[in-house]
Amino acid sequence: MDLLISLGFVVAYFFLTHLIAKYAENKGRSYWGFWILSALFLPFGLVAALLVTPLTQEDVSEMKCCPFCAEKIKSKAIVCRYCGREVQSIADGLM
Ligand SMILES: [Zn+2]
Repeated sequence: MDLLISLGFVVAYFFLTHLIAKYAENKGRSYWGFWILSALFLPFGLVAALLVTPLTQEDVSEMKCCPFCAEKIKSKAIVCRYCGREVQSIADGLM
């Protein structure tokens, strides 16, 4: 009987983890990032998912790939925040 209760608790825990991850995904955030966060510490994952601001289409379109490390960086960036190399901003290219 105790095993059944424990199993039920584990299933409920991972169901809640899934719900939190789905909620974050609807805001344009990483499903697995929030899933792992919630699995490690459920209340923290829940609060983070509630507080995180939704990614807008504008945020996504303002990104570009760094030509050196291929990480996504802001299109106005002059220096890549991942590899630290200078990248020409798209704004400069237009002028
Ligand atoms: Zn880079």
